[in-house]
Amino acid sequence: ARQFTRPLNDLANQFNTLLSAIAGAERVFDILDEKEEKDAEAIGDNRPAIKGEVVFSNVSFSYDEEKSRQTVEHVSLHASPGETIALVGPTGAGKTTLINLISRFYDANEGVITIDGIDINQMGRDHLRKQMSFVLQDTFLFQGSILENIRYGRLDATDEEVEAAARLANADSFIRNLPNQYQTVITHEGNGISHGQKQLLAIARAMLANPKILLLDEATSSIDTITEIRIQEALSRLMEGRTTFVIAHRLNTIQKADQILVLKDGRIIESGDHNELLKEKGFYYELQNNI
Ligand code: ATP
Repeated sequence: ARQFTRPLNDLANQFNTLLSAIAGAERVFDILDEKEEKDAEAIGDNRPAIKGEVVFSNVSFSYDEEKSRQTVEHVSLHASPGETIALVGPTGAGKTTLINLISRFYDANEGVITIDGIDINQMGRDHLRKQMSFVLQDTFLFQGSILENIRYGRLDATDEEVEAAARLANADSFIRNLPNQYQTVITHEGNGISHGQKQLLAIARAMLANPKILLLDEATSSIDTITEIRIQEALSRLMEGRTTFVIAHRLNTIQKADQILVLKDGRIIESGDHNELLKEKGFYYELQNNI
């Protein structure tokens, strides 16, 4: 999963550029007349809200130009709005790569990925990524206050909205126990914020962004039991009504998923829900004993 955080760190580096661009944009909007302002609104964020249907049609992808080795091979899938799709399979099977393709950190070489019937290559990366939030193993936090880090989910959110999102994410109580509460500055060392607490911040950020699509990579490293319970509860709340792709490690997550896609060597070798896959007595059945 590590290569997935690299593009996000690049994104973090662009964050300051982004902030100054926003400041610049605000100055521009000051001098627009009323009619233009309305137009800008109309073409800006007033695009129709998506439902979150995600379809892969025969998607293949290779990290190397020569395409000597396909990392994703002829993958087709259909996620209805609000469904949870668990991606399981051995290390290197291509789970992270699938998520990288949905978010266009890489583009498929073959086949089409659509969201609500629209080819994601036609959507533009910025617009596309506004439709999704990420909760990954390594939460991307930048040097800034907790408030700012959560607000990254939606830059125009008020302090009250940030705090409401933190409450929904079960993050509010640990934040209030920090010396400077929401104003506590996160340093690169993480100043004592645990791995699990970082996940809660990522969940708060996603709550605030309120997207229709969620991309999750469940933690494998040990998190204390109480934080783990808080994370699970907050995640269920977050996943409600959103299409979720989860690289799943916890049996409970996998069992509850609407669809389980078993990946091996870049291919979907089995799919179905937990009971269907157990009946098949195939790879998933064997895998169960090793999760
Ligand atoms: P894990 O559970 O270990 O995270 P995964 O199922 O998520 O595994 P991927 O991370 O998608 O698998 O990797 C699939 C294959 O693609 C692996 O062989 C990996 O080495 C390779 N790969 C991943 N990222 C890159 C990259 N940026 N460049 C080249 N090869 C890569």
